[in-house]
Amino acid sequence: MNPETTAIHAANLVKATTGDVTSPIHLSTTFFRGEDGGYPGGHMYSRVSNPNRTALEQVLTALEGGETSCAFSSGNTAGMAIFQALKPGSHIIAPDDMYWGFKKQLMTIFEGTLTFDFIDLTVTENIAQYIKPNTSLIWVETPSNPLLKICDIEAIAKIAKKHGLIFAVDSTFASPILQNPIALGADIVMHSTTKYIGGHSDVLGGALTFAAKNEFWEKVKNIQETGGAVPSAFDCFLLIRSIKTLAYRIKGHCGNAEKLANYLKNHPQIEAVYYPGLVSHPQHEIAKAQMRGFGGMLSILTKGDAAAARKVVNSVKIFSQATSLGGVESLIEHRASVEGPTSKTPQNLIRISVGLENIDDLIADLDAALAAK
Ligand SMILES: *Cc1c(COP(=O)(O)O)cnc(C)c1O
Repeated sequence: MNPETTAIHAANLVKATTGDVTSPIHLSTTFFRGEDGGYPGGHMYSRVSNPNRTALEQVLTALEGGETSCAFSSGNTAGMAIFQALKPGSHIIAPDDMYWGFKKQLMTIFEGTLTFDFIDLTVTENIAQYIKPNTSLIWVETPSNPLLKICDIEAIAKIAKKHGLIFAVDSTFASPILQNPIALGADIVMHSTTKYIGGHSDVLGGALTFAAKNEFWEKVKNIQETGGAVPSAFDCFLLIRSIKTLAYRIKGHCGNAEKLANYLKNHPQIEAVYYPGLVSHPQHEIAKAQMRGFGGMLSILTKGDAAAARKVVNSVKIFSQATSLGGVESLIEHRASVEGPTSKTPQNLIRISVGLENIDDLIADLDAALAAK
């Protein structure tokens, strides 16, 4: 099946006796045991599993082409489950522009139990020299946040395999529609389902899809079930509902972002546009090879200082000045001030999540804001 079809049908597991065409929300936290002490409905207690969560995990597995998935209450708890599952003392190789929430986890929560190097993973040849005897994980984020850097998933998978390392890809910016890291050799794909998969800025969630049900998956599964950072039945219902339109939303996001990037790249008030779909993007060729589209995220450097950049985000009327991404509404933010004083993000960088409004309205809005700058 193609992704549009999978997205609509793969989560419809529940054969309700009422004949529902879509799955109802299962709020029960506990499930009847049979006479033999078993669980005839397939569920015991909703922290361990719940019909809505099972359905969500199933559709995500199908879309990513994996073996199994674990859904979490946020992207952060999904990623954290991987770090928690590593042996204490393990070393991690992660990108220098890793999603700042994960960087913060490693530096504040896992400081003392894990060690890490944050390096430029776009230069594949550099990676091997950072591998130590205790290295156990290579973590990649592509496209990256907020610089939209692209890593060569297939090339890094080969390095990970050669050294016996777990290879995980934060594929949040791509969504399962644009890129499937498992097919390129990754062991685990991570998504913040809060973003494109949810798509309407109204549900927080995360997920991991695994290439195999191996020993590491068992550890993560135990962290999911026993740690208990799981999404509610309602969260899962919302995500399943959103996934049905994911492929079409992504097409719209990509089309709008491409037009906006092309408009902005020639604008006199703009110093640089970071969008993997532009031929000028340093990893454009890799993006073209491993993605089916270039996504709805772009970052720009405006001419001038932080104050000038902030003036732009304060002047727009259709874009909402807010963090996050992947929703139907366009969002704009001055990124360095979100990331705080330790951020290395340029002070004149504005990150844009291009939504599904009419692109002419978005361009006119940004054009007016840049003129007011
Ligand atoms: C938002 C985001 C996360 C974290 O997800 P939450 O759902 O906010 O916890 C991780 N990685 C990337 C790339 C993100 O954009």
